[in-house]
Amino acid sequence: MNRSIAAVLLVTILVSIAACQPKEPEIEIEEVKRIISFLSSDEMEGRRAFTPGIEKASIFLQGEFEKIGLETLDGLNDYEQSFKMFSLGIATAELTINGNAIEEENYFAVLNSKEIEWDQNSGLRIEVIGSDGNIRDTYGELRNTEDNILVLVDKAHEQLFGRYKDFLSGPSYKMELKDSGNLVFILTGEINPGEYNISIKGNLSELSLSNIVGKISGKRSDEIVLFSAHYDHIGIRPPVEGDSIANGANDDASGTTAVVSLAKYFSQMEQPERTLIFVAFTAEEIGGYGSRYFSQGTDPDKIVAMFNIEMIGKGATEGSNTAWITGFEKSDFGKILQRAVDGATYKFYADPYPDQNLFYRSDNATLARLGVPAHSISTTPIDVDPDYHQVSDEVETLDIVHMTNTIKAIAKAAATIVSGQETPSRVDPADVN
Ligand SMILES: [Zn+2]
Repeated sequence: MNRSIAAVLLVTILVSIAACQPKEPEIEIEEVKRIISFLSSDEMEGRRAFTPGIEKASIFLQGEFEKIGLETLDGLNDYEQSFKMFSLGIATAELTINGNAIEEENYFAVLNSKEIEWDQNSGLRIEVIGSDGNIRDTYGELRNTEDNILVLVDKAHEQLFGRYKDFLSGPSYKMELKDSGNLVFILTGEINPGEYNISIKGNLSELSLSNIVGKISGKRSDEIVLFSAHYDHIGIRPPVEGDSIANGANDDASGTTAVVSLAKYFSQMEQPERTLIFVAFTAEEIGGYGSRYFSQGTDPDKIVAMFNIEMIGKGATEGSNTAWITGFEKSDFGKILQRAVDGATYKFYADPYPDQNLFYRSDNATLARLGVPAHSISTTPIDVDPDYHQVSDEVETLDIVHMTNTIKAIAKAAATIVSGQETPSRVDPADVN
């Protein structure tokens, strides 16, 4: 056989091998730019939950899932996983202690019920924050209580009381109403009330929120890998240099863009071994309600891993080709990712900011409390980031090349979990606050 025939044969063989092998899908920078630019445009008005702006983002994301051809979640006809919430504030209130009316500036309430009527015969729990007490600590202890509690605060705390009143007086959002867990704070000199009367009527309205959810069915229907990010942000803020829209480009249009890009990537691969669910959570910024609702509808034991992606638009101080994993020590999820990209330029490592409690500051914590190896992947040096929760969190401040590389690295790092070769150890719920 002469050399040129051998060469032609070799080329023919290589071409036919390449044709049989499914081509590795591309995660294209132009697509990343298109998606994040749309989600963080002024038209979305900062994507705050319950606003028309977030509705536009929701419609856009549903359109993207549709184009990719994702399946809908079992029991849903489309990509919207909607749920009801209540907004509850004070409509009218009358409070007296020992016959003296309490002025409006001297009380506030955190309500779970539409109405409360309490007096000295109600068997109420009373907590006193004396002059040497601490409002912050007491509120921290009581905030998730199941009791109805009257909190009497000594006048020595007048200033801090005012700040807590400002912070807690707005309508609060509830997934359900209860008869218990109502807190009423009163600033007073009467620490031993003989007689009291607390009558508060709530201002209740019903609201709707939606997660956007799509699926790629794997060969194993009861083993789920979750890719998630929150698509809501904090909305309109006091203006800075004429700009009042907090666009949330990095937080968390960047993660949401990653979720869409990963959905497209995996949709172009062969059918995965495990089932993949892609979620854009709502209402992370106002209490993580989207992930809470999602976790109630999906058996956590079936979720083998959760890749929650937060703020990947800026490179880490350690270098642009790196990302960290929050709660690294709580399962071996991080080690599996590190193994999957062993030898590659892009590296994953443990969260370098444990003091920032990042593991608890996103939707992953809700699933981790149920035992899921649920971690956030991030790259932004949050301790020094000047744009975090500011109107300056704009797409122009982001490094789209770095972001695209990060999405590609997550796709690679997820490979062994998606294929069923590796299964992260479960998180111990006792190890999650
Ligand atoms: Zn976020």
